[in-house]
Amino acid sequence: LTSLFPDSLQTVQVAVPGPFQGPLSYLSKTVIPIGCRVEVPLGNRTVVGIVVDHENPDDIDPKKLKPVSRQLDERPLLSIDILSIAQWMSRYYLHEFSSAYLLALPALLRKGEVPAASVETRVKLTLEGKAIDPAQLKRSPKQQALLDILQRADQLSMEQIRQLGFTSAHLKSLETKRLCEREEVEQLGEIKPTGDKLETSLTLNSEQQAALDRLTQDIFTPFLLEGVTGSGKTEVYLQAIEACLRKGKRALVLVPEIGLTPQTIQRFQRRFKDPLVALHSGMTDKQRQQAWYQASLGQASVVIGTRSAVLTPIPDLGLIVIDEEHDVSFKQQDTLRYQARDVALKRAQQANIPIVLGSATPSLETLHNALIGRFGHLLLPNRAAGAQMPLVETVDMRKQQNRNGLSERLLLRTHDHLRDGNQALLFLNRRGFAPSWFCDQCGWIADCVYCDANLTHHRHSNTNICHHCGHREKPAHSCPSCGHSPLQAMGTGTERAEELLADLFPDIPVIRFDRDAASTRKKFEAQLEKTQADGPAIIVGTQMLAKGHHFERVTLVGIWDIDTGLFSADLRAKERMGQLLTQVSGRSGRGERRGEVLIQTYYPENPIFTPLLNHDYRTFAVKLLDERKKAGLPPFGFVAVIRSDSAFADRAENLLRSMASYLLSLKTVRVLGPIPALLSRRAGKNRYMLIVQAEKRSALHEAVVPLHSHYPRQEKQVSWHIDIDPAELS
Ligand SMILES: [Zn+2]
Ligand SMILES: [Zn+2]
Repeated sequence: LTSLFPDSLQTVQVAVPGPFQGPLSYLSKTVIPIGCRVEVPLGNRTVVGIVVDHENPDDIDPKKLKPVSRQLDERPLLSIDILSIAQWMSRYYLHEFSSAYLLALPALLRKGEVPAASVETRVKLTLEGKAIDPAQLKRSPKQQALLDILQRADQLSMEQIRQLGFTSAHLKSLETKRLCEREEVEQLGEIKPTGDKLETSLTLNSEQQAALDRLTQDIFTPFLLEGVTGSGKTEVYLQAIEACLRKGKRALVLVPEIGLTPQTIQRFQRRFKDPLVALHSGMTDKQRQQAWYQASLGQASVVIGTRSAVLTPIPDLGLIVIDEEHDVSFKQQDTLRYQARDVALKRAQQANIPIVLGSATPSLETLHNALIGRFGHLLLPNRAAGAQMPLVETVDMRKQQNRNGLSERLLLRTHDHLRDGNQALLFLNRRGFAPSWFCDQCGWIADCVYCDANLTHHRHSNTNICHHCGHREKPAHSCPSCGHSPLQAMGTGTERAEELLADLFPDIPVIRFDRDAASTRKKFEAQLEKTQADGPAIIVGTQMLAKGHHFERVTLVGIWDIDTGLFSADLRAKERMGQLLTQVSGRSGRGERRGEVLIQTYYPENPIFTPLLNHDYRTFAVKLLDERKKAGLPPFGFVAVIRSDSAFADRAENLLRSMASYLLSLKTVRVLGPIPALLSRRAGKNRYMLIVQAEKRSALHEAVVPLHSHYPRQEKQVSWHIDIDPAELS
């Protein structure tokens, strides 16, 4: 085609931001390599896009094309393998064509900035520092420890020093003594070979060793590493990564959103001398861009990140690890609704490398794949270092005295564990002071004006807040329905629990984890830090506590309230409940003393508890798989949810009704709905959904793909989207 142009103009296909289902064509005087960013005109704006192809589709007249304004990169920023994964994502998840390509780039590069690696300050020992015996500093143990580590590591970055728990004052003291000095190093060197480690590997038990032996292959093999809580999965990952680095390859580790704390990074950093970069939402755009760029240049041997790090370009990738693979944060819940675990599987397949999905409570999809032999199945049925699984019992709330939902039995056990100097962890699924602000005369409950939901009372700020849309209002003094006053808070949230516990145990620190007390990564880490102090303490919080954190001295776990979750209409509610109970219980007794778990419930006979009382998540999961099979639901069938919302309920419903009749006419899929979403009104919008089911993935896709051309995504004040492989059917 290009030969048709006398002035030898080339065509390029560019993924540009916007509601397009494919790349747009532009002209260029030079050949711009695929994977480079360009600035191109779009309407009356100039936007940054990515060159994804050269060939012009036949149906477009080249004479009508506009030229590229500017080429931003000399060399491709995105490698061919990343581009091809992005292309697969945009096809599979049916979102705007460019969104997957743009997702692969950090925000600053999406805006057109020049990529740059950072200048790093490294700390090295002086000759005196190398010669001195650290014992001479024994009067200042922190300085002694830092010197000791430096003597073994040769040099450390400022970041490493910080993450190892040292302050700049410790470093300054060593500098004043002329034992070490700083040096500015530009991060643009060759990758360093594997050297000594700061911390040596632990000895594996026979099950861990058997798992490791199978992980060190060189071809695409997906594995489920199913190990009970505390079974030492991380040690297996670490040694598998070591083996990968020894072969001169690199590793990608994905962890849940809240799981990537300095403690996690530290644990990896202490084990590898090779450069490691982290990618997560707690970093500034600049830091993310630098880390991403270093990774893409191959300067990092290990890349550890949350969901979106799955698209980081990494040369010579040799292994992918996904920790806590069941975690819901791997599924993006808006715009491009991708499942990072599935994208990672695709990536491993394409790169022909092994991938490990680890969990104590694997998702039903992954477990199914392992049970039918599609994935290798590695088992760690025992806790590492011989620790026992905790004793679990249900507390029948119908037979208990309670104070704000805290039973006598749980209170007494908490008292005992604290008296012995241990920590107790209490789990509630509600943040705030109390779930509702209510009238005990007529039963009136304050609800959100914009949502079909009750407001949550937050005592600290004396506000009623909607946890769905964020609406806030001052609590009413008297009942709008019957005029009774005063009104009161009903039920217990984390905030009220904290107050009650502080009252009951005045000398014991109470450390709260929820989206209010740990609203930022920094605050979360500060709370986590507090749990490491000596002495008894009470940890109280929401499901944030279930995310794989290691609370060394927790010996008692109390599940304060779980009943509300027993009756959810969501397809995945039971699966999540089982995972949550198992994970929260698993925080107990990781150390020397055997742990204890108390589950408070008004429904102790509910069969959901039986397998969990015996640490038998597997039996529980297999039962759920059976139910799914009968219903033709994932992993035995494929599902998409189409959701619509509008200020006008009938418009939202009618749009889905029209889609439903089109889909039914195809006779290739099953359609359920339209039905109101579980939260039928949110932020003033009425929400409906349509569930589309098929036995084959291809049938599902063929049915829903044409919807995008028939129905504009936003029209007549209705908007809609498709969610392929939804995490929630609500
Ligand atoms: Zn609301
Ligand atoms: Zn009333």
